[in-house]
Amino acid sequence: MSGPAQLSARMPDHTAQTDSTFTPQGGSWVGKCLICGGPLRFGAATGEGADVEHIVPRSLGGSHGLRNLGVTHPRCNSEEGRNWDGGRRRRRDPERYQRMVERLLAKRAQQWREPARDGNS
Ligand SMILES: [Zn+2]
Repeated sequence: MSGPAQLSARMPDHTAQTDSTFTPQGGSWVGKCLICGGPLRFGAATGEGADVEHIVPRSLGGSHGLRNLGVTHPRCNSEEGRNWDGGRRRRRDPERYQRMVERLLAKRAQQWREPARDGNS
C-alpha cells in the first residue's frame, strides 16, 4: 500500500479545518503558515502548496493527532528552512528548541477550532 503518500495529500485539508486562520476560497484554503505566520494558500483536494508539520516531532513521541499538526509553507517545514530546521536546532540547542515547540503548540491551541461536521455526527 502507498498509504503514507495518500494520507499526506489529505492532511493539509484536515488540519486547516481545525485552524481558525484558514478560510475556504473556491477549491483552496487560504490562511497562515503556523511557523512563519505568512500568508498561505493550497489546494484543498491535493494539499499542493502546503506541508503538514508535526509540532512535537514523531522522533520525540509526537502524535498524529490534529492538535500536534500545523499547516506550513513547504519551505518553512524543510530541513533547510530558516524558521524551523528542527533536527539541527534540536541537536545544537535542545532547550531553545523545546521553547520553540512549546510556542508553536500554544499558537496551534490558540488558533484551534472544532472541525465542521455536516450531516454526520
Ligand atoms: Zn511559513
